[in-house]
Amino acid sequence: MFQAALRPQALKCSVARTLQASEEARVTAAAKLFPGIKRLSERVLVQGLGSRVWDADGNELIDFASGIGVTSTGHCHPKVVEAVREQAGLASHLQMSVTHHDRALQLIERLEPYALGLDRFFFATSGAEAVEGALRLARQATNRSGVIAFRGGYHGRTAGTLAITTSGIGYRGGNAGPLPYGAFFAPYPGLGGDEAYCKEQLDLLVKQQVAPSEVAAVILEPVLGEGGFVPAPHSFLKHLREWCDAHGALLIADEVQSGAGRTGSFYACEGAGVQPDILTTAKGIASGYPLSAVISKAEIADKQPPGCMGGTYGGNAVACAAAIATLDVFEEEGVLENVRKQGQRATSTLNALKAECPAVVDVRGPGLMLGVEFDRSLKGFAGEVSRECEANGLLALTAGVHEACRLIPPLIVNDEDLDEGLSIFADAVKTIADRHGVSNGEPKPHTTGRPAVLRGLTGGSSFDGA
Ligand code: PMP
Repeated sequence: MFQAALRPQALKCSVARTLQASEEARVTAAAKLFPGIKRLSERVLVQGLGSRVWDADGNELIDFASGIGVTSTGHCHPKVVEAVREQAGLASHLQMSVTHHDRALQLIERLEPYALGLDRFFFATSGAEAVEGALRLARQATNRSGVIAFRGGYHGRTAGTLAITTSGIGYRGGNAGPLPYGAFFAPYPGLGGDEAYCKEQLDLLVKQQVAPSEVAAVILEPVLGEGGFVPAPHSFLKHLREWCDAHGALLIADEVQSGAGRTGSFYACEGAGVQPDILTTAKGIASGYPLSAVISKAEIADKQPPGCMGGTYGGNAVACAAAIATLDVFEEEGVLENVRKQGQRATSTLNALKAECPAVVDVRGPGLMLGVEFDRSLKGFAGEVSRECEANGLLALTAGVHEACRLIPPLIVNDEDLDEGLSIFADAVKTIADRHGVSNGEPKPHTTGRPAVLRGLTGGSSFDGA
């Protein structure tokens, strides 16, 4: 892993310091941000390398947030930086509805071996845009409008994706306006009930809410992300495949968060041995450059008339170059093997914490899509852990409406950074458990209030990020 050869401490923001805004300018600008944007911390970051980031005061933090699961090859991987520099000097933007461009065509060739047998590609810039594209494609291809999604799922904040997002009420923020009709919700196994119950509810749904002949697609995250980091059992994914086939509906796997290696296979569906009809991917695919894709079976995509898919920046040449370099890093540096290895190491460390600390009730994978759930009666616990971590040099987010933290380090994380980050996390959990009076024995109600370590934080445990 590249970062092992470098000494991040030696950097200490020497370059970034010359580019920094003054403290006063920062405070003025931050006050002008939409208050609808929520964040873990008011800290101002200026630089990143590998699994570490630095703030404007030169403080170093370990990054187990990865820009919400995005910086797959770490911050500033030299191969990605080089590819971006090279492409920026060749042509920064070549528009895919004007002509073909070489980087996008190369990227298709590179992505296809990972695409689970799917062989039509559409590039966009964000995860939500990809999910919108997938929903539109499913509706056009089936000439049906109903979409079954899962309670607790997150698919984006655009109207179409918000209509199927139920991971937290905060995303709607009150009156989000009329959302598109045609969304129906089933429980997600592990979150909304056990697998047998969830299968039963799915069957009931097409008796009570929407006729099976009106269902265009079933969309799910193979590992629930924002909703709490809960993996669906492989048997449930297989069941959905059969269920969709039986009802003439399409199966859409939203792998915006679980894809691009995060779970230890390139796509989580691969781990389950299930081929979706349509797959969405984004986040880690280009190491932080804005790129997403809808990938589909040819017989489905080929039903679309020309002109209905597009977007000015979709498949931007620099983002495509970053994605190709990301795949180079994956293949040359054994990233998937590293995800599996570090995922196992992290899981055993976190399970040891669970054995020691009664506040921890569940540790979940797979790979480096790690969720740690705390006793649900300990209101605000996960948020407090997250803030305690931040105050002690680790970025770690919460997930979902229950008390869970998610740990999503860069996929290139090495032993040293992983262990140091986990140690800060374990200390934070123990500190907050002490505060709640649950270090040993039964959980007790929380009475001591929130820690005063950070400025400007609002709300409960849930991080309403992306
Ligand atoms: N789908 C899933 C599963 C996601 O996790 C996200 C983002 N967290 C999205 C869609 C939306 O992606 P974006 O924020 O890039 O629009």
